[in-house]
Amino acid sequence: MYQLTIVGTSSSQLPVAILGGGITGLAAAHRLARQGRAFRLFDAAPRLGGSIRSDRSGEWLLEAGPNSLQLTPALAALCTELDLRPLVASPAAKNRYLVRGGQVLAAPTSPLRFVKTPLFSARAKIRLFGDLFLRPRQRPTDISLAEFTTDHFGREVVDYGLRAFVAGVYAGDAGQLSARLSFPSLWAAERSHGSIIRGMIAAAKAKKARGEPRGPTSLISFADGLEALPRALTAQLPPGSVELQARVTALVPDSGPAKIWTVQWTGPDQLEHRESFSAVILALPTSALAALPIGAAGASGERPLAGLKAVPYPPVSSLFLGYAREQVAHPLDGFGMLIPPIEKRDVLGVLFNSTLFPGRAPADHVALTVMTGGALRPEMAHLDDTALLARVSDELGNLLGVRGAPVFMRRTVWPQAIPQYNLGYERFLDQITGVEAAYPGLLIGGHVRDGIAVPQCLAAGEKLAARALA
Ligand SMILES: Cc1cc2nc3c(=O)[nH]c(=O)nc-3n(C[C@H](O)[C@H](O)[C@H](O)COP(=O)(O)OP(=O)(O)OC[C@H]3O[C@@H](n4cnc5c(N)ncnc54)[C@H](O)[C@@H]3O)c2cc1C
Repeated sequence: MYQLTIVGTSSSQLPVAILGGGITGLAAAHRLARQGRAFRLFDAAPRLGGSIRSDRSGEWLLEAGPNSLQLTPALAALCTELDLRPLVASPAAKNRYLVRGGQVLAAPTSPLRFVKTPLFSARAKIRLFGDLFLRPRQRPTDISLAEFTTDHFGREVVDYGLRAFVAGVYAGDAGQLSARLSFPSLWAAERSHGSIIRGMIAAAKAKKARGEPRGPTSLISFADGLEALPRALTAQLPPGSVELQARVTALVPDSGPAKIWTVQWTGPDQLEHRESFSAVILALPTSALAALPIGAAGASGERPLAGLKAVPYPPVSSLFLGYAREQVAHPLDGFGMLIPPIEKRDVLGVLFNSTLFPGRAPADHVALTVMTGGALRPEMAHLDDTALLARVSDELGNLLGVRGAPVFMRRTVWPQAIPQYNLGYERFLDQITGVEAAYPGLLIGGHVRDGIAVPQCLAAGEKLAARALA
């Protein structure tokens, strides 16, 4: 049965459709609402926020997806707009630990500490400073991030530093990731300065000249967890603008000059609906983009983004564990611990949640989040809870002196966690650009195209809204 909703007659009077209510779609919706432009937001899930999800259980507060965000100037401005107070990571979380030879060692945070650290050999330290003497360079082709950074800093620093960071933070494999697409700022630094270190110093000076604070950007969350951000964005949306548990079955462009799009969708009531829009924003993961019928033939028609099914999207398991303080020997005086793949351990990294932000664990208890899986060890994300806990407990016992069973445990498995901008990813970006060119009014963005960090997705949502308004 169809329910037909006719919302207007000419394209400019029609609302904008947004598919996907993760942070990208919500940012687009927020900007459209602020500009007084009508829209309708469709999400397949029963809640908005996508990968950002905070759960409270008694006095434990855990993140299923991202745990902290970089407080960029745009995010700071959005927080002010939403009347949200960011919670800056505690100074007690200043250390970043890395594992080498089974030892948990603090990563150096200053040139002097770098010279003194036992993390790298004297030879590796001398080799790293070779970067300072490199000349600007235009590479004819993209190369892997591991190869690119080895050219600058040498193999040892890459094996024990960068590879750990990429595995723990991006769930990725530095040997596969595209240097140009995954770290465009490093690629640009090489082009402009030759040396990445000199390029970064220049970028810090430019930041200061723009009046932005020098030094690394603060990491933040909120008192009730990161989901406070999508909740605050949702609270500002006009009534009736959101459809949850909505399954979009086809996007049909009008063949006439008016450029009207018809969105066919089914709600939880199983009724089929058709609504008309001036433009359609797609802020979806690749699996959903690939499955979307787009074109005059409706639901039985072609899926022009089907090629995106091949985007590598490894699984990640996020295991939140609570312990009584005396069960953990390590002081947990840091952000967390990353484990380089060369160490051949079962864990990608461990976040020290109760050090990072207050209110994550009851008094006299600590909270840790253990990440497993990723591009290099996908099978570790799919172990059952008992097997995973046994493997993780061994690692935590050896590395952090954790004794006994956790007093609290919650696990989230992301079967497709983070898209990997691997070498050759341009072919997926080209498909997206090609489909946008073939279907005017179709606007695609988010973590598939614009960067995977939440602030990048927020910027993507803003850009999508601006394009829909143009
Ligand atoms: C475990 C993990 C840890 C992370 N850690 C960090 C971190 O510490 N810092 C950081 O900055 N970033 C982190 N990220 C990355 C970041 O969270 C994501 O890249 C970002 O949230 C993606 O936002 P998005 O809106 O583009 O997509 P998503 O959040 O994936 O949202 C897509 C939305 O589309 C909906 N949808 C799916 N299919 C359909 C369909 N057919 N029709 C309609 N709707 C549909 C989904 O329900 C979802 O709401 C992490 C991600 C994960 C998974």
